[in-house]
Amino acid sequence: KYFIEAARIIKQSCPGARISGGISNLSFSFRGNDLVREAIHTAFLYHAIEAGLDMGIVNAGQLGVYQEIPDDLLEHVEDILWNRRPDATERMVDFAESVKGSGRSRKEDLSWREADVASRLSHALVNGITDFIDEDTEEARLAAERPLEVIEGPLMDGMRVVGDLFGAGKMFLPQVVKSARVMKRAVAHLTPFIEAEKAGGSSSRGRIVMATVKGDVHDIGKNIVGVVLGCNNYEILDLGVMVPCEQILNTALEEKCDMIGLSGLITPSLGEMVHVAKEMERRGIELPLLIGGATTSKQHTAVKIAPEYAQSVVHVHDASRAVETVTSLLSDTRRADFESRNRAAQTKLRALHSGGGGRPLQSLEDARANGLALESSIEDFPEPPFIGRRAIEVGVNELIPYIDWTFFFAAWELKGKYPKILSHPRQGAAARELFENGQSLLRRVVDEQLLTPTGVYGFWPAGRDGDDIAVFSDESRQREQLRFHMLRQQSPPADGRANLCLSDYLATTSSGIPDHIGAFALTSEAEADELARRFEKDLDDYQAILLKALADRLAEAFAEWLHERARREWGYAREEALGLEELLTERYRGIRPAFGYPACPDHTEKATLFELLDAPSAGVHLTESFAMRPGASVSGLYFAHPRSRYFTGGRLGRDQVDDYARRKGIPREAAERWLAPNLGYEAGA
Ligand code: SAH
Repeated sequence: KYFIEAARIIKQSCPGARISGGISNLSFSFRGNDLVREAIHTAFLYHAIEAGLDMGIVNAGQLGVYQEIPDDLLEHVEDILWNRRPDATERMVDFAESVKGSGRSRKEDLSWREADVASRLSHALVNGITDFIDEDTEEARLAAERPLEVIEGPLMDGMRVVGDLFGAGKMFLPQVVKSARVMKRAVAHLTPFIEAEKAGGSSSRGRIVMATVKGDVHDIGKNIVGVVLGCNNYEILDLGVMVPCEQILNTALEEKCDMIGLSGLITPSLGEMVHVAKEMERRGIELPLLIGGATTSKQHTAVKIAPEYAQSVVHVHDASRAVETVTSLLSDTRRADFESRNRAAQTKLRALHSGGGGRPLQSLEDARANGLALESSIEDFPEPPFIGRRAIEVGVNELIPYIDWTFFFAAWELKGKYPKILSHPRQGAAARELFENGQSLLRRVVDEQLLTPTGVYGFWPAGRDGDDIAVFSDESRQREQLRFHMLRQQSPPADGRANLCLSDYLATTSSGIPDHIGAFALTSEAEADELARRFEKDLDDYQAILLKALADRLAEAFAEWLHERARREWGYAREEALGLEELLTERYRGIRPAFGYPACPDHTEKATLFELLDAPSAGVHLTESFAMRPGASVSGLYFAHPRSRYFTGGRLGRDQVDDYARRKGIPREAAERWLAPNLGYEAGA
């Protein structure tokens, strides 16, 4: 109101003046209602220009046409803008309920419906519109001689456009997955006709079997890659998660696949992938092997996997590389060149690797002598509110404010920080659309109570015993219930720094100081798998992947929420009042290290953690590789000491691995297998 008034006054008092200003600071959302937000922006700018504004700095994506704002909505908007009534906001909130939905899609431009059927199919594919796909596909089928021609003609043409735009960085993964959904519906419509005609014969460019390896459950990335390849007319046999080697290889042979793709999230899966490569060699299989997933790397692929298998082994960094890789490997003309470049790059990486891993390690003895000595006062050891485990449930609504959306976009390969990413010049539109879809699915999850986040947490008397952490069942500390085995940094630290080990953050058992440790395990998606399957059955991979990405976000938000509660209850953070940004950048006292991460890389310790918590009773389980099931689960330990920090354990010497195996009571070979990614020496050498 004042801005508009000011414009008018300036214009009146200095008639020649040019006034510019913007609504960039007026960016806000109106309870997620884009129609209202857009109307307010539009009306604001319209009045400012009327009042004399010469030039506006605006986000065109947030503007509509003033004359097209419906009268009733406009009245409410202008009540707010001019502050015409004290209850303007409340009235708008009520009114907004009746105009839910996206402003853009309301004024949908349907002129594309007038084009010929091939253009319409192409438009629907590129824009991910499923609304008319059945009738358009049917029209194309009637016009074609054989139903297969519809796929090979207009549909494939449309998908080629999608592929080209994606390749050129003009379309982004979420949009491609939506296009794939349109394609899938069209193909589903045609399939009965094709089968009736018994012309079966697949027209795909190649058949690929894909799987998340045994012991691992994560599949968002694999599903996205599958959809992207599917869009490019490759036939994907997706075997799902936790797939044993045998089943992958048998399927590849029985189904006459052209390639095998493996995916994995946690480090033990790296070993499983090496095993699959060895088995492929042993069985004389001659198919290219693709490697992908969060912990995989081109280094590990070159050094550990490729040497085990004579055929090409290719690391696929992300979904955007998948098409080019597969196309090259299946192309008569490009294959030889692609393979020789891949092999040359891997040879180089192996040479770099064998050049030794940097500075020699310290002995375990020296590292221990340089551990962290905490000269602590007794106030640093607060007493927890209870001893033992407690189950906990929380509503999704409560978790929403704790969501770190940046990682939601990352799951879809949109890189950038939220909320800035929404106005990114190149990927902003894709990000906004994805965000909107995520929000409405989230609303559905809340309204229909589709997810029930459950978890368990607790506190126990505990003390440091060497590099171990001894946990006691009660305050008498007579009976050791179990112990965690920790690893110490052995790389020579920078001047004056200690060789850290997580146990350093606890008082030693013998000191008599009554120290404690906390622990937690939680999941957001006890029912999400079932729901995702329902979406998949509806040929809606987009919603299925979206749901999994949201479940991941909610699990992380739950972890943040529960940690905050645990800190408050523990007593040392009663005064804490941090905003989301501060929570996410860990501006609080204490840490919650998670097994498998750099300070405690051994996943097998999760078995001890889960025993302590009885995590399965809260719906969180472990696979044989110590991956948590369901996938959207988080677990870890709580340390309260003010000096506790995350750190990277780094490479381990043989002396420490020996010592560790002894402490855990397992053979050294077993310790070497689980710690493979962290060994500072050649195992078995
Ligand atoms: N906010 C992010 C997730 C945070 S991941 C999201 O929403 O996805 C950060 C978590 O990883 C920490 O809370 C801790 O549990 C774990 N972590 C990070 N660095 C670690 C380290 N060096 N050692 C052990 N755990 C670590």
